[in-house]
Amino acid sequence: MCNKVQRISLTEKQQIALHQDMPYMVVDSCIACEMIYLISKGIRTLECCCGHGKQLAYALIMSESHDAMIDLGYVPVKEANGVYRVLLNGE
Ligand SMILES: [Zn+2]
Repeated sequence: MCNKVQRISLTEKQQIALHQDMPYMVVDSCIACEMIYLISKGIRTLECCCGHGKQLAYALIMSESHDAMIDLGYVPVKEANGVYRVLLNGE
């Protein structure tokens, strides 16, 4: 849990895959390492939050990353809008 954010640098390819306008993404510091790992594995994330002590850390991922997340040991849960929610390991 943290009250800090961190910039994650994105390659041009990652930027396109994640539909980010800027060459970086801002995430909560305590899940930054895990998000860098997931993005480096080609996971397409929509949003993430560490929960700030009120809920568990999670990320929303696009449906095409479902199988890859299972291969990485995560448990994607389908949301109403066709995206998947995964709990992050956090810090
Ligand atoms: Zn945090």
